[in-house]
Amino acid sequence: MEPEEFRRAAHELVDWIADFRLRVGDLPVRSRVSPGEVVAALAAEAPESPEPFAAFMSDLDDVVVPGLTHVQHPGHFAWFPSNASLASVLGDIAASGLGALGLSWQSAPALTEVEQVVCDWARRLCGLSDAWRGTISDGASTATLVALLVAREKATGGSQRAGGLQAEDRPLTVYCSEEAHSSVAKAVLLAGYGAANLRLVPQRYPDRGMGPDALDTMMAADVAEGRRPAAVVATSGTTATTAFDPLSDVVQVAHRHGAYVHVDAAMAGAAMMLPEYRHLFEGVEEADSLCWNPHKWVGSVLETSLLYTRRPEDLVNVFATDPSYLRSATDGSVVQYRDWGLPLGRRFRALRLWALLRLDGAEAVRARLRRDLANARWLAEAVRAAPGWEVVAPVPLQTVCVRHVPPGLSGAELDAHTLAWCEAVNSSGKGHLTAATLDGTWMVRVSIGAEATEQVHVDAIWAEMRRQAAAHV
Ligand SMILES: *Cc1c(COP(=O)(O)O)cnc(C)c1O
Repeated sequence: MEPEEFRRAAHELVDWIADFRLRVGDLPVRSRVSPGEVVAALAAEAPESPEPFAAFMSDLDDVVVPGLTHVQHPGHFAWFPSNASLASVLGDIAASGLGALGLSWQSAPALTEVEQVVCDWARRLCGLSDAWRGTISDGASTATLVALLVAREKATGGSQRAGGLQAEDRPLTVYCSEEAHSSVAKAVLLAGYGAANLRLVPQRYPDRGMGPDALDTMMAADVAEGRRPAAVVATSGTTATTAFDPLSDVVQVAHRHGAYVHVDAAMAGAAMMLPEYRHLFEGVEEADSLCWNPHKWVGSVLETSLLYTRRPEDLVNVFATDPSYLRSATDGSVVQYRDWGLPLGRRFRALRLWALLRLDGAEAVRARLRRDLANARWLAEAVRAAPGWEVVAPVPLQTVCVRHVPPGLSGAELDAHTLAWCEAVNSSGKGHLTAATLDGTWMVRVSIGAEATEQVHVDAIWAEMRRQAAAHV
């Protein structure tokens, strides 16, 4: 495609994106396609000659849009907010158009240095000290893997450059809360610790944070039995209930046993932008690394995940390879982000968050987060006041976990009722919620924070929840 043809097509595409955002609220939230339907609607072979742009556009309309569950919809309350603010979309388009190649500082100096600046902007907005250095990865799962690889190498004095874990005489152990994200278990497997060496630390009640005394007991028992505690992954804002592990206590216990501490604040880290919520993260300054995802609640396009470390040299020790074809005269004086993680060729990821912060401004983001937090408080109060309804976990942020308990219903019957009304809401197309188990019983999460969600939409989903719960008793 030549630039002039691109110019015409891209204008059309941008108009289409703007129209999509204007109409997304009228579409069903959850996709109604069946498995294989999208495949069946598409050609089996790639075309040999060019197709008209209009054919591409009509497949976007007819196949792709119905084949998506619309997380930009104001009725999206499932999983977690996954905002892609239009200001950030502009940054993403610019990144694609520039087609820069981040292999080294020299291959795209601005790619590296905008990333440094944006990580630093976000750090300051979160009230974190200047001891932290940041990088942008694709997601929190990658960040946890990177952290556990660093922890492994610290605990073994660099085993990977010798016999690896296979040469270690004492197994390394990793700890996280029972409610930690599944990516922690995945990273434990991938980093070679082995599932048998992951400890799920019981939560304390009522706040559901990791119990520091239980952590201490488990670490001491592992040491007594000849194992070596290597890392604790503390969660600030768990996926199920946005529970916060008590970071100060957890870090103190972990460091006493010589273990590395990574903080997974993927969803909730955005709340550090609000000074009135920073108490939830007290102790974070003592941790070794920290990750949060501006691509969730804040609205940077997906694959904008911030990883902060207090010691970049720990990452470089694990990830640097230094092949001859990437060497240049500036090497000693610049950041080489390829040495901070897994990928070599990196996209210009920073442009998404840079565009968002510049074009919307931090105050608009904070105002939106505060709006969502007020809506969550409002919903929690409404649920508590409604007969037969319960809020089943504390509501520190924007996720409200609820259950409808008709008189006399319990056990498997109550679970069936919960799943039935939740499914009815989801198939209505008006809203999308997530059912999840909590302490062995099903409940429903209402995760508030889509950019388009105003109080009227929260009011509407609550009305729909009551209607469907009453219809499914
Ligand atoms: C969303 C989430 C993750 C996973 O994040 P990805 O960026 O999708 O890998 C991990 N931990 C927590 C607490 C989360 O909320």
